[in-house]
Amino acid sequence: MSAPAALAVASDAATVWHCELCGFTYDEAHGCPPEGFGPGTRWADIPDGWGCPDCGQPKADFAPLDLG
Ligand SMILES: [Zn+2]
Repeated sequence: MSAPAALAVASDAATVWHCELCGFTYDEAHGCPPEGFGPGTRWADIPDGWGCPDCGQPKADFAPLDLG
């Protein structure tokens, strides 16, 4: 009930995000343990300063994947 950060998420249905440059995907259900994000870590909870572990593309350049 206290998450203004939700504004950054286009849809609650989008739980997988991908790097538009290299295709790296981030699935909220699995998180990214090597990056320090455990399973269930919401995209909105990832620091804005985080970047793609494969190519360094900033979080802002990731796009949501609509899995239907
Ligand atoms: Zn990338």
